[in-house]
Amino acid sequence: MSTTPIIDVPVVIIGGGGVGLSLSCFLSTYKVPHVLFEKHPSTSILPKAHYLNQRTIETFRQHGLYDEVTAQSAPLHNMSRVEWRTTLGGDGPFDRRLLSYMNAAGGGPSSSMSEAYGRDSAVSSSNLPLLRLEPILRRVAEERNPNGIFFNTAVNDWEEFDDHVIVTVTTKADGSPIKYRSQYVVACDGGKMSTKKLGINMEGLAGIIDFVSTHFKADLSDYWDDRTLITHFINPEGGSMAHLDCGALLQMGPTWGRHSEEWVLTFGFPMTDNKRFDTGALPARIRQLLKLPDLEMDVMHVNHWVLDRVVADRYRSHSPSGVDRQGRVFIAGDAAHRRPPASGLGLNTGIEDALNLAWKLAFVVQGKSSPSLLDSYEAERRPIGIRNSDWAFFSFSNMNVLTAAVGLVPGQKEMNHARFAQLFEDSDRGRAALHHVRRVLHTQNVEYTAHNIELGFDYARVGAGGVLVADGTPAPPVDPEGQVYVPTTRPGHRLPHAWIIRDGKVVSTHDLVTGSAAGAGAADFVLITDEDGRGWVDAAESVGKDMGVKVDTAQIRARDITRPKGLCLDQMDLWAGLKEVRAGGAVLVRPDNFVAWRCADMSDDPAEALRAALAELLRTRQQVAATKKSAETNAGVSSRTTVDVGVQEDGAESSSVESSSSIATPTNESVEQDDRHSVHVKATEGAAAQDLVEAVIDGLQKPIDKTGAGAEVFVVQ
Ligand SMILES: Cc1cc2nc3c(=O)[nH]c(=O)nc-3n(C[C@H](O)[C@H](O)[C@H](O)COP(=O)(O)OP(=O)(O)OC[C@H]3O[C@@H](n4cnc5c(N)ncnc54)[C@H](O)[C@@H]3O)c2cc1C
Repeated sequence: MSTTPIIDVPVVIIGGGGVGLSLSCFLSTYKVPHVLFEKHPSTSILPKAHYLNQRTIETFRQHGLYDEVTAQSAPLHNMSRVEWRTTLGGDGPFDRRLLSYMNAAGGGPSSSMSEAYGRDSAVSSSNLPLLRLEPILRRVAEERNPNGIFFNTAVNDWEEFDDHVIVTVTTKADGSPIKYRSQYVVACDGGKMSTKKLGINMEGLAGIIDFVSTHFKADLSDYWDDRTLITHFINPEGGSMAHLDCGALLQMGPTWGRHSEEWVLTFGFPMTDNKRFDTGALPARIRQLLKLPDLEMDVMHVNHWVLDRVVADRYRSHSPSGVDRQGRVFIAGDAAHRRPPASGLGLNTGIEDALNLAWKLAFVVQGKSSPSLLDSYEAERRPIGIRNSDWAFFSFSNMNVLTAAVGLVPGQKEMNHARFAQLFEDSDRGRAALHHVRRVLHTQNVEYTAHNIELGFDYARVGAGGVLVADGTPAPPVDPEGQVYVPTTRPGHRLPHAWIIRDGKVVSTHDLVTGSAAGAGAADFVLITDEDGRGWVDAAESVGKDMGVKVDTAQIRARDITRPKGLCLDQMDLWAGLKEVRAGGAVLVRPDNFVAWRCADMSDDPAEALRAALAELLRTRQQVAATKKSAETNAGVSSRTTVDVGVQEDGAESSSVESSSSIATPTNESVEQDDRHSVHVKATEGAAAQDLVEAVIDGLQKPIDKTGAGAEVFVVQ
């Protein structure tokens, strides 16, 4: 009989990469006790992912990570452009030629695309290599969960039972095994251990190519354009761009722009090419490619990344009692999907997995919903894993089209020289050829301005499998080029962003779900309505109390100054154009800022309408019963669900998360956690019709840029 002590904790995270650490930060803000194990002593020393899209930055903003992340990451100006050049140096006829460039990530001179990026989100995208991002995430994860983040600690194995999972870990420091008993496990292990152990199939193409990245220090300030994020090299000596024979150079900071101290240059090698292991030859090859023979380089690391386009056939284990039952182990991030780097959909997709799972775990562990809520994680996120992996592969493959347009034929040196001579010829023929190449190079917008891919993913297509109540309205049109994002409040879609004024401050509609970052007292859902929606405000308070969830409300009124004060103000009348519900209608928003349900008009019985929606969303028998009883008695029914956790090995005893829980650390320290989240629905400020606001805000209502968020707005009452 084993004498190893067993430590109880609701959630175990395996892996302290970008996804595991993000998940830990999110779970902490939702007050879910958990532990995280990372086998390495430190965060990654490899640059790895760098592009953080708007959706990820929105998530970081919601979870209180925005300031730290954006303080270190590249300003939009320094990542607003991608170039195709022949070389950086040299004096040959084709050297230092700019073939083409395009705006990237919503930056660059004003255009319909940059306007769309600026309009559709409260934040810009960012560029921060993972080797700088992960330490921030680790520090925040440790601050929020001081005795729950364990580096240098490998998960050796786990054993799943119907009602718990036993996870065995070993600290490298002392080597003795420790067992944890958890309700749920999330493997964010890059697939190192989880997929094989769970018998999960990674479907798709594996071993496409070996990307060899050289991370080095060098002074390229005389050659680099401050605005450029990535330069792709293409010259008569080069081969296919998709295989990156020609190489691509990326600035890595920590200073941004041409004074960047660090760089990464990536070449691709066929898997059959043994030269890929000759890392000693790389500095010379880089100098030759850049045509900077005397460049002083300090190589920091060379690493290999074998590209796949694979997605897990399941995101969750089977229960030990049968393959038709859902288990307690989930996978997220690279464990669930791996794809080429084009479009930057690796880490970004993984962080959205973490967000999606975090609030659902919180609801289940805290007894706010039935455990079957967790079924929606795979239902919602796997189709997005497939969508994003396919898009990454598509935009990566498009580089073959670019190679063909430039007219490069690998190995045909003479022909390639003739082609380049033509491209740069001062003649109508040359200008026509170069113009055509530029048009085709611009098709790489599918990688660099894939605005709809980044913001426009939705869960509506999974219907009842998702946490939403479909309303039968048609989906907005989908731009086949992934560019045009159409904001909508259709259930299952991301809440449209609009600037509003609340309590005299400019905030985003996304800030209404303060949930996470605010911690205690945070809302589970937010119901957005307007000045005619008082009935919803009253309903949210009573129904939320009955159903054990906190439903905050926001009444966003139009700018008409004769309307009641005390409500939010539609800053630029943008929300009015985005809300898609009529006067008195309502939009219910989930903790991850996705729309769960909407009602086009004021309901005859708003409490009943909201109760029915929440019962469907939370999938709770108790709440459905409450709905029925409420309908019968027309009175509020207080009901709470509890989830049994921590069944002991003999199965004799169980404890409820209603009680305070504790996390014991491997050294068996014990940290008392706060009492479980108690449900208080704060009364929303009354807004009597006679309370009129005399506002002198019109003059102040100019478009507010990102720096304006949170700014005080002067209102005279
Ligand atoms: C060289 C390179 C370049 C990349 N460039 C890009 C890019 O430009 N754009 C892009 O979108 N994506 C890129 N990616 C992919 C991107 O970095 C990943 O999608 C993202 O970092 C995945 O994060 P993750 O946390 O899911 O997995 P990982 O970062 O792989 O983290 C998994 C963690 O789990 C730990 N672990 C594994 N097993 C155990 C265990 N048994 N016990 C404890 N810990 C364990 C590992 O040590 C690791 O730290 C790149 C990847 C590499 C390797």
